[in-house]
Parts: sequence; C-alpha cells; structure tokens
Amino acid sequence: MPADSRTPEVTPTPFVPLHERHERSFENNRFVYPVLSRRSGGISIGVNLNPDKVCNFDCIYCQVDRTRQSETTFVEMPALLVELDEMLGLAASGKIFATEKFRDVPPALQRLNDIAFSGDGEPTTYRNFDEIIAACAELKQRHGLADVKMVLITNASMFHRPHVERGLAILDQNQGEIWAKLEAGSDEYYHLVERTPIPFRQILDNITAAARVRRIVIQALFMRIEGQSPTDAELEAFCDRLTEIAAAGGKIKLVQIYTIARRPAESFVTPLDDAEIDSLVDRVRRRTGLPAAGFYGHLA
Ligand code: SF4
Repeated sequence: MPADSRTPEVTPTPFVPLHERHERSFENNRFVYPVLSRRSGGISIGVNLNPDKVCNFDCIYCQVDRTRQSETTFVEMPALLVELDEMLGLAASGKIFATEKFRDVPPALQRLNDIAFSGDGEPTTYRNFDEIIAACAELKQRHGLADVKMVLITNASMFHRPHVERGLAILDQNQGEIWAKLEAGSDEYYHLVERTPIPFRQILDNITAAARVRRIVIQALFMRIEGQSPTDAELEAFCDRLTEIAAAGGKIKLVQIYTIARRPAESFVTPLDDAEIDSLVDRVRRRTGLPAAGFYGHLA
C-alpha cells in the first residue's frame, strides 16, 4: 500500500481547537480507546480491530460483552487513523492528563506506555492487518513516539497467514511485542476452554514459529470451571508445552499467569484465588526455568 493512501483523512472541526474537543472525541471514538494500565505503569491506547465482536475462538471466560450489538461492524481504516492520530497527539503533548478521565492519574503514571491491538475479538483476523500495523507505526513515528511499544494481544491462530507474518515483521521494526494466549496443556482442556475448531497443534506450531523469530510473552488465563481448579496433570502438561516451545528454539520473554477479573461469558467460570496463582507461577518457574509473573483477579 503506498504511503500516501495511509495518511489519515483528517476532517477538521471548524473553530474548535483539538484540546477543547478531546473529551467529546473519547466518547465518540469507535476504534481507539485509552486506558490507564497500572500494571504497565502508564496509559495504554487500545486499538479495536474487531468492532463487530466476532472472534474465531469462543472462550468460556471471554469478557467481551456480546449481549449488546455493536453499531460499527467493520474497521474503517481512515476513521481509525484519525482517532489514533488525535489520541497520540494528546498523549505526546501531555494534554490527555488534563481531560476529565485522566486528570487524577498520579504523576508517576503520566506517560504513554503502549499502543495495544486487542479489542473485541482476534485482531489478526482483520484482513488488512499488515496495512493497519504499518499505518499505526507511521503515525507513532510522526508523533515522535518511536520508543512507545506496540503490543499485539492475540490467540496466535493466524500467525501462519502471510498478511499476519508481514504484520508481525512490521511490529518487530517498531518496538513490537507479541502477547500470545496459551492456557492449556492438553488437547481436551484447550477445546473445553477455547471452544474453537482450530486444532491445538496449530496454535502450538504458530507460537513456536513466532517465538523462534523474536522473544514473545505468553498470556495464560486459568480459572475454576464448575468450581474445579485445573488438575495437577493439566498444569504439568501446560509446563511441558512451554518446555517444548523453548526446546524447539522458541524464545519466551515472560509467562503471565492471570485469572478472571471481569464478568465472564459463562456463569460456571470463576477466578482462581491468589494462592493458586502464586503456586502456578512457582510451578512454571520451577518446571520450565522461564520467567513468570502472576496477576490476581477478583470479580467485582
Ligand atoms: S480469543 Fe479473546 S476475544 Fe476471542 S473469545 Fe477468546 S477471550 Fe474472547
């Protein structure tokens, strides 16, 4: 795609300077949403590539609210880039911290940490994934934010597709980080949790191939199902899969262990308690030798 066609089509609002209309733009945004991430120590600008809320997984714990239909059903790239351009301008200038939503953010957290591609489904299913990643990277550069990370939060199901491989390569050149979901050890448990026809072997192969090229982060959500925590055998198998990825040359920067923190898709799913998270983090470190970090979850 030629560079010019990626330039956002900015539609100026006459007589109303940007800094006076950003509150309204937060509310009206359809694709770009800023959040305070205490975990990462700053603001994360989310980019939603699945406004239709369609996903190729149907995880039992999914926290996307699909009871309400979205008005926007497909990505409008020019509109998305206008929203991102505006948001990056607010973040780069620090004006975002004068808005009602962020004015109480403590000084230590008043920084932009990343642009995160996540949203309401699997971002790599977007057919122009490589083009949108390139356009967002260009905007980041233009705002003088070269050091800001671009984080792809993904279920790894599409890494073998050429448009995704190209997108990952662009991320590599622009402070990209891949956070890939892996939260099962056995085929049976994978299908129980993720409810997808995509084979577990495909996910494992994709993660291994991607991790051979760059260091990746693994995101693993574990939970109670019908009151039952994952079995010892399942957690051991999970550690075995991590070990196999590493043995095949995959570079894993960190294994993040977390649990449910918001209302899940299925009512029979509940969070692990803090001690279980701690124990699983210990197990991963001990069994695989990989760095691991735990994050607690409590349903509101
Ligand atoms: S992959 Fe993510 S968005 Fe898709 S169903 Fe699972 S948790 Fe939800």
